[in-house]
Amino acid sequence: MKFTINQYFSKQNSRCGYCKGTKCSISHGMHSYTMFPEDYQELIDRGWRRSGLYCYKPLNNETCCPCYTIKCDALEFKLNKSHKKILKRMTRFLRDGKKDKNEETDRTGDFSKDAVGSCVDIDEDDCGGGTDKQSASVGGINDEPREPKLPIPNINFDVIAAANQERHEEAQRSPEHFDDQVPTEVENPVIATETECASKSSCDGSNQQRKKAKTIRLERRQAKLAAKGIEVSNCETSASKKQKVSQEKTLADYFADASANDKHKLQVILIPPNKKHVTDEAFNLYKKYQLLVHNDDPNRLTPSSLERFCYKSPVKYTKPRSGPQDGYGSFHQQYWLDDKLIAVGVIDILPHCVSSVYFFYDPDYSFLSLGTYGSLREIDLVQQLAKKVPALKYYYMGFYIHSCPKMRYKGRLEPSYLLCPEAYTWHLLTDETRRKLDESKYQRLNSNTDAQDVENFQTSDLSKVMLLYDNAYLTYHRYIQSLNIPTIDNMLDAIRSRIYKKITGDDDDRDLIIEYGKLVGKSLAHRMLYVKT
Ligand SMILES: [Zn+2]
Repeated sequence: MKFTINQYFSKQNSRCGYCKGTKCSISHGMHSYTMFPEDYQELIDRGWRRSGLYCYKPLNNETCCPCYTIKCDALEFKLNKSHKKILKRMTRFLRDGKKDKNEETDRTGDFSKDAVGSCVDIDEDDCGGGTDKQSASVGGINDEPREPKLPIPNINFDVIAAANQERHEEAQRSPEHFDDQVPTEVENPVIATETECASKSSCDGSNQQRKKAKTIRLERRQAKLAAKGIEVSNCETSASKKQKVSQEKTLADYFADASANDKHKLQVILIPPNKKHVTDEAFNLYKKYQLLVHNDDPNRLTPSSLERFCYKSPVKYTKPRSGPQDGYGSFHQQYWLDDKLIAVGVIDILPHCVSSVYFFYDPDYSFLSLGTYGSLREIDLVQQLAKKVPALKYYYMGFYIHSCPKMRYKGRLEPSYLLCPEAYTWHLLTDETRRKLDESKYQRLNSNTDAQDVENFQTSDLSKVMLLYDNAYLTYHRYIQSLNIPTIDNMLDAIRSRIYKKITGDDDDRDLIIEYGKLVGKSLAHRMLYVKT
């Protein structure tokens, strides 16, 4: 089967995890049986996002808290002061095995980390975290829209493949899909071990002293220059700029320094889609995180809920030759501190990005700001993958929700871009953007009013929409033609369709398919299969 298959549900009202309203979050959704990585890439580039097998797209001009898809250009990524502090703190911890003195008494660390985007709310000036537990309840996994409890038809892929052999072969030849992909059963999946990290260099007490001495020297020099009437500021900036360029440490530099003498060893291991399974360690970690960080109801914390949100994924595991060594699909990054699992990053590796799905960690190690550290690791992963696949250069953090101040931290990974909810173009997140969003929570973002969605779906595109109906895939046009032949089967279908409409409240399937076409865009509507009941 070479098709993405979705059961579309239309508009849903649900509880909002950001403003805590009961029914004010409005989104469109669909259940995805299977999704090709390039199709999911296109969907997230149109404002969709997945939670387990459920894909949803917030209706930004109507919903209480507009959600703007946010991505960071990993190849242009600039570490800020706070990131560097976190990286150095981890290095010191691994080297000495001790918490920093000022962190012993620190509060909960980066508890406000948003699970969805795997980032952290840390003030530039307060990188020890120090956000309270109350803020932590924002953005947890339970705050995402849930799949409505509507009947999902069972789909037998073998039956469909057999019934559509000819088309199946045709699709395999299609250049739109990977021509050399390997299906889910991949032999010898490589567990790509990343680096252990620890650094002998940089920020300890003696370094602080050196810094002071340097500052004193610089001040003396400036005083001398000033005495000679030379403009101090220009002179200073050009000198310090040069120094910065030559000394700038990259993310990889921070992660690469490891020493055998380190007290602890941190290993970040990439687990491929076919090797992921719920273990006691992963479940206990998830449970502890959900309970302590998101005040979750213990009764809801079962291995099956973990599996539903963090393991199940419609994204098909594919390994095209031109793609990353470990392929595309839904992976986990496990963080092992010596022999203890302390964090798990749930990520999708797609043709243009690594997309963060969820991140959970052991709250006992929140002094290490694991949420932010995890984001930096994921950016590093993008940087590594981009060496082989240059198009894969973005880090998707999920949604930027400006109307919820606790969810604004995602914009701190720079440079970041927001997706225009109308034209589906990307726009650099600047202070000007923030100012506009302060004025009005819904913004088009693309200031050119002529700019339109290039995948704009018109009614005339309806006839070519691909449907999966009665185990066959066919265009909407063919489906309508088949209905005109009055057979008992068709009459039964009509009755079945009427019952479906009663359940879903939809007046007309035709309108529903048009709505779906507009949300997924023309190309995807003509490529993916819409499950017609
Ligand atoms: Zn809301």
